[in-house]
Amino acid sequence: SIEGLEGNNDNMRIRVCVRKRPINETEIANNNIDILTTRTATYPNAQIHIHEPKTRLDLSRDIETHSFGFDNVFDEKASNKDLYASTVAGLVEGIFQGGKVTLFAYGQTGSGKTHTIFGSPTEPGLFHHIAKDIMLLCAQSLSDTTGPLPTLHLSFFELYGPQIYDLLNSRTRLTLLESPNPKDPIYIQNLTSVPIPTVNLAEGLEKLLALIAEGFKSRSTGSTQANSHSSRSHAVLQLTLKNPTTLRPLGKFSLIDLAGSERATDRGPTTSLTTKWESSEINKSLLSLKECIRALHQHKPTGVTARRKSGTGKHIPFRGSKLTHVLRDSFMGRGNRTVMIACVAPGMRSCECTLNTLRYAGRVK
Ligand code: ADP
Ligand code: MG
Repeated sequence: SIEGLEGNNDNMRIRVCVRKRPINETEIANNNIDILTTRTATYPNAQIHIHEPKTRLDLSRDIETHSFGFDNVFDEKASNKDLYASTVAGLVEGIFQGGKVTLFAYGQTGSGKTHTIFGSPTEPGLFHHIAKDIMLLCAQSLSDTTGPLPTLHLSFFELYGPQIYDLLNSRTRLTLLESPNPKDPIYIQNLTSVPIPTVNLAEGLEKLLALIAEGFKSRSTGSTQANSHSSRSHAVLQLTLKNPTTLRPLGKFSLIDLAGSERATDRGPTTSLTTKWESSEINKSLLSLKECIRALHQHKPTGVTARRKSGTGKHIPFRGSKLTHVLRDSFMGRGNRTVMIACVAPGMRSCECTLNTLRYAGRVK
């Protein structure tokens, strides 16, 4: 039987995808064989199969296969550009009409979350393709209309437990505030928001890349254990279109590189107390994220009443974690879209983590 998404896809208000990364040389050298096969058609035929070895003795015979279905399945040959084209490219125009799009990369450490969102010098990440298309649309509306152009702004922050750190301002600690204004109920006080030039594409992209590199630098220098820190916090990058005269936000794209989904128990009996605290905070926020997306999905706006309900967000447990609380405004509203990309590593030794990731992603919707 196939686990995963139930029912139809509700014109993609919420899209759940899986991405398998290529097996790497270390894994090959360590005999960590690839246990994932994929069928990369779209829903309901997009499937991923995990061939779980039940014993270490005979890998060819004692295997249990688990199958999962998703809106999209991307195999190791898919590029970030392919992912962009099939998941969010069609949502970019909507943010010019006030739409908000939130994209999460979920998965264990080393599964490809950062590669997907931020990319590498040779393979630009999703943010790059999104920003480029926003800039192209800005340039286009410049020639189409005589009215003022919306301006594009970048924010980049980190959530570590209940704390928020501004990655574009030396990792300053920030506070989440609730305002009585129903149009803007929750905001991060003093969050840096840098204007990005949109008229010259090359100039705009260069500025973006430089700012993000700066953010990454402050992310690792601000903590004692540079490398592992990034896997225990959520990084949130936001591209916001603002009204040029009032600077009020119009639409917004949020990209979230989530903390590693592996559990404390996966890290062995020598796990320190800090690690245990971190893991329980991470588990809490990932669970609460799943609950919020599920709740949103169950409140899909089909009629006037349903619309009103989803508009108030009354039943959506945003306060379950800082992560969902911060993103509250992007989750709500009729035009908003949520995309989850569950990243998985192909190796046999990631089997348990991969199964957990596929089950989590399968239950989001
Ligand atoms: P995570 O952020 O989930 O911890 P990373 O994005 O850092 O994982 O990926 C781990 C390693 O695998 C990195 O060296 C990255 O470049 C590589 N990698 C991940 N996904 C891909 C992919 N689809 N194609 C090529 N290399 C990838
Ligand atoms: Mg990472």
